[in-house]
Amino acid sequence: MATQNTAGRGREISLERAGELADYTTGYREAKAHIPRGTDPACIKRYEAQKAKLLTVLGGTEADWADWKWQMKHRIDDADTLAQILDLSETEKQEIHELGVTYRFAVTPYYLALIDPADPKDPIRAMSVPTALESDDSGESDPMAEEFTNPAGIITRRYPDRLILNVTNACAMFCRHCQRRRRIGDADCDVSRAALDESFAYIRNNPEVRDVLITGGDALALDNDQLEYILSSLRAIESVEMIRFGTRTLVTLPMRIDEGFLAMIEQYHPVYLNTHFNHPRELTPQAVQACAKLCKAGVPLGNQMVLLEGVNNDKYVVQSLNHELCKARVRPYYIFHAKHVKGTTHFCTSIDDGLEIMAHLRGRTSGMAIPTYILNAPGGLGKTPLLPEYIVERTSEKVTLRTWEGKLVEYPNAVN
Ligand SMILES: *Cc1c(COP(=O)(O)O)cnc(C)c1O
Repeated sequence: MATQNTAGRGREISLERAGELADYTTGYREAKAHIPRGTDPACIKRYEAQKAKLLTVLGGTEADWADWKWQMKHRIDDADTLAQILDLSETEKQEIHELGVTYRFAVTPYYLALIDPADPKDPIRAMSVPTALESDDSGESDPMAEEFTNPAGIITRRYPDRLILNVTNACAMFCRHCQRRRRIGDADCDVSRAALDESFAYIRNNPEVRDVLITGGDALALDNDQLEYILSSLRAIESVEMIRFGTRTLVTLPMRIDEGFLAMIEQYHPVYLNTHFNHPRELTPQAVQACAKLCKAGVPLGNQMVLLEGVNNDKYVVQSLNHELCKARVRPYYIFHAKHVKGTTHFCTSIDDGLEIMAHLRGRTSGMAIPTYILNAPGGLGKTPLLPEYIVERTSEKVTLRTWEGKLVEYPNAVN
């Protein structure tokens, strides 16, 4: 029966519908041609040229470049060195110099080499190089009230069964949009053994905690020995079911995923890792390779994007980012709405913008490429999902739904 149907009128209707569906991809495919990706030959060529320039300025070798500790030690944190790599006006140099005092500035040679020096609006540059926009004094310093969610040691606890360990304030790069700016301070500061041990004791004494996130700062700013102490201590607590890392090093320092880290992490599974890609240009061959190594070591990867004006506030850029992530076996997990944090307000978008992007994605691309859009409720009240309206009306009898294409359908609320 079914075969017969498909061969007849059914096939005709299916073909017509398929054509209609294919038309839904036109906007994206046209836009995509103009959205650069980190694996594009032009991006790779520019990176290689900038890398050569940086190696000369910093006096390094190819082997140095591939060494994450060399990258960390040679982070660019002053306007004069930066001016040798990017074209900076005297005013810009002065601004960077002054702002670096208020909000710490440092970028790895690797990430700096991704910037197009000829484009003042480059999204990679917007995320890494200070501008005068940061001196805008509006916004709050701690909108999530993290100060009041610290029951012990270095813990942030805001949820019933999981919590965060802030193991360092160090990062490979200080993102200009950082929502935890107030914690960065002026120097890298790993936490003490005592503070760690106090935190482990808290987790041991609160066995409802089954999921522990190791973050900071950037968890992977610590070296492998320090991380192993944390992992082995957590694994010694029976109630800890899963461990997660929060790190942006896949993006800013992909050489951090070294053999030592991979061999170690395999001893402590299940270990998940969430990272923070914001633009398809960040998915370079090096970053993709770091993702592949982690997948091979059995680590499920997720991405937490932040919606940022001038970086990714565009439905097609987000779609392209999510496609590149899926290709690299990274599941888009969250899109965060940028909060009103002092010194970052120029990155804020409207919630309308975020909802429009979410409405665009649903239906037009794989569910695997659609993260949850999250607003962190003020006062530390937690992650709150924001969703376009799909329920138009709901009574005890029926629900009226809007499909991804905007068609209205009715469905009984309950069958009996
Ligand atoms: C984000 C966050 C978590 C993890 O939340 P998930 O939704 O499970 O990813 C846990 N604790 C704190 C304090 C957080 O901010």
